[in-house]
Amino acid sequence: MSEPKIDLHMHTIYSDGAHSTEELLIRAQNLGLTTISITDHDSVYAIKEAVEIGKDIGIEVIPGVELSTDLEDKEVHLLGYFINIEDEELQKYLLFFREERVYRAKRMIKKLNSLGININIDDVMDIAQNSAIGRPHIALTLLKIGVVNDYYEAFHKYLRDNGPAYERKIHVSPQSALKLISDAGGLSFIAHPGHLKESILMNMINAGVDGIEVVHPSHNQYQVKFYRGIVNHYCLLECGGSDYHGGAKGDDDNLGRFLLIPQRFEAMKQMLHQNPG
Ligand code: AMP
Ligand code: ZN
Ligand code: FE
Ligand code: FE
Repeated sequence: MSEPKIDLHMHTIYSDGAHSTEELLIRAQNLGLTTISITDHDSVYAIKEAVEIGKDIGIEVIPGVELSTDLEDKEVHLLGYFINIEDEELQKYLLFFREERVYRAKRMIKKLNSLGININIDDVMDIAQNSAIGRPHIALTLLKIGVVNDYYEAFHKYLRDNGPAYERKIHVSPQSALKLISDAGGLSFIAHPGHLKESILMNMINAGVDGIEVVHPSHNQYQVKFYRGIVNHYCLLECGGSDYHGGAKGDDDNLGRFLLIPQRFEAMKQMLHQNPG
């Protein structure tokens, strides 16, 4: 059998991805991926459908989610894998967080209005539909109504961290997100740590995170080596993937190119068997 091709980080329209679950799986299949995880922000809506389609087309689908937490005033993303998507606490948390995202989007729209931009929440909702609403949906709306010429200009001019229309999400401590993931039977990973200070990384390791995302499009080869070194040194797990969103983000080339080493994936499964949730 040929080598497995594993990508454990991608998004659908249930968060800020451009593709439906089915479209995403077909893309994955066309690129020869054998195992994927869908890791929508604050939503597990895609998972059930993805597992079913995956069974039909021969792709193993690992339940995943991406949560936003705060540490030292920085946003730290956490990936949860092998979570029980029916877990009640998890469901409650995700629902609450998605509601909070709507209030935050309204605050960002207010700021845009005060900058003289005629945009309203309905425009953004039209684009976001029933997904976890976030800055990418506002960026796409600004693009659609012609306020900016491309997706990235919307961030550069208005929506980037601490930009003129930026609003923070509600504060969630990494500890509570780690507990949520482990109580739902999952394994937790620090997502794309490339932009984080080492003190934050150490803090997360001390807080009991299970692993680190080593392979990610934002990491250069030295960072991949560096984070793999940390994983090995602290006996942590490694995950990795393309963080593929599709659409205006222009990351179409990434799917299929950022893969987790199969042995590292086996180590994740072994850890689950040692500590069944
Ligand atoms: P949110 O969760 O609503 O804060 O949106 C975060 C998402 O916005 C990230 O996952 C990125 O996809 C996107 N994003 C954040 N900052 C930038 C930026 N400076 N340029 C482009 N995209 C960004
Ligand atoms: Zn995203
Ligand atoms: Fe992220
Ligand atoms: Fe992501």
